[in-house]
Amino acid sequence: MHKMTKDHTSVWNNCIKVIEGLVSPQSFKTWFQPIQPVRLEGQALTIQVPNKFFYEWLEEHYVHILQKTLQEELGPNARLEYLIPRKTTAPAAYKGPTLSKDLEKNYGQVPLRTEKIKNPFVIPGIKKVKVDSQLNSEYTFDSFVEGDCNQLARSAGWAVAKRPGQTAFNPLMIFGNVGLGKTHLAHAIGNEVLNGFSDKTVLYVSSERFTNQFIEALRSNAISDFVNFYQLVDLLIVDDIQFLANKQKTQDIFFHIFNHLHQKGKQLILTSDRPPKELQGMEERLISRFKWGLSADLQVPSLETRMAIIQQKMENDGVDLAHDVAEYISHNVRTNVRELEGILVSLIAQAALNRREIDISLAREVISNFVEDITTPKEVSVEQIQEIVAKHYSLSLEDLTGKSRKRYIVIARKLSMYLMKQYSDMSLKNIGLAFGGRDHTTVMHACRSIEDMLNEKPQFRQVVEQIQEKLRR
Ligand code: ADP
Ligand code: MG
Repeated sequence: MHKMTKDHTSVWNNCIKVIEGLVSPQSFKTWFQPIQPVRLEGQALTIQVPNKFFYEWLEEHYVHILQKTLQEELGPNARLEYLIPRKTTAPAAYKGPTLSKDLEKNYGQVPLRTEKIKNPFVIPGIKKVKVDSQLNSEYTFDSFVEGDCNQLARSAGWAVAKRPGQTAFNPLMIFGNVGLGKTHLAHAIGNEVLNGFSDKTVLYVSSERFTNQFIEALRSNAISDFVNFYQLVDLLIVDDIQFLANKQKTQDIFFHIFNHLHQKGKQLILTSDRPPKELQGMEERLISRFKWGLSADLQVPSLETRMAIIQQKMENDGVDLAHDVAEYISHNVRTNVRELEGILVSLIAQAALNRREIDISLAREVISNFVEDITTPKEVSVEQIQEIVAKHYSLSLEDLTGKSRKRYIVIARKLSMYLMKQYSDMSLKNIGLAFGGRDHTTVMHACRSIEDMLNEKPQFRQVVEQIQEKLRR
């Protein structure tokens, strides 16, 4: 067909006609109707999508369709670019990867820009060798929400970023459980160093990749190139060093590189899922090196920090999240930040797919797929609850089931009833009986007043959370 005048609207309209026949009406309505064509430059069509999540969803699920239809319209070199309106600032262009390439790109994983270190075996000779840092530019200090859980590690990281190799924190060892931000923080430091010192060579490498490169170097007789390459670096970040455990030769070479860099005043940052002293299968001399600097841990974020993280992530995705929903999620997802992110992503996806509002009931559904003990708390006995609550408030069992009207005793009593209702199948009537023969309406009122308190008093909520934690064990 001969196409004379092409503009973004006509090109997109043609595409959309084809796409409409290929996807379900529901998907079409959800994912394609909201798209606006913006401009056409050569063979690059720019479309505007509502938010970043939307863009990612399209890339993940519809890239083939988009690619094919656009190529029909614009030829084999067709490209698609996305525009995502920023909420607070002026719209900024978001350049999606080109269509043909992003198929094999590492979508969905940590968005490293390149899968491989381009040339890990650069032979130094000329002074300046450009090394691809392997840093993810989205992992910055700005996007790393501060909280009690990460204060030490974050501020040490910041100090290191401002004066790499010049502080006492060398090496800086960041440790903590999975999903708590070790990798993010390590990248943030690297990015900050690159910002502040354009002449410094920064390199991020996972222990696994380091190991593989080493094995490859052994195989190809290129050990000295390997070592030379690593000795070029001004800031070396080695992620998840626990993977070096029991790899004797890799540890030896790492020890060598470590010493060289350290002596030259170069900065090392290491991460690990456990503190240095618990690194089994690691040579003593390495562990003692790790202890030279500072070991700082990352803890599970508190409720407030979880809230802040949720809000920041949703803002970045351009999604409005009601306060009560954010609160609900932060209450119920407590393990780590990665899980929190997982919940948010499915929440948006569910909302979009089923055309539902993001409210507490949707959040509850999504969370119940992730976290088991929210909707199906373990059965606990009356005695267990009474015992734990009584102990928490330093009361006797008689106080709890008796007639005292002292305020804190009343609260403890009501709370026990509430927990009974939550954690057992007992009827209100039987719960009443277990508390000194009280009426079922009393139990009902008790539960309501606890719910009100939970909504209104964050401190009380914390207490209840602590008790619930004990009950789950
Ligand atoms: P780890 O390396 O400790 O397993 P990651 O650094 O991969 O954890 O973090 C998991 C996810 O949680 C990442 O997407 C990261 O951006 C996010 N994350 C962790 N901590 C924070 C934080 N304090 N603020 C914002 N995002 C965080
Ligand atoms: Mg990690």
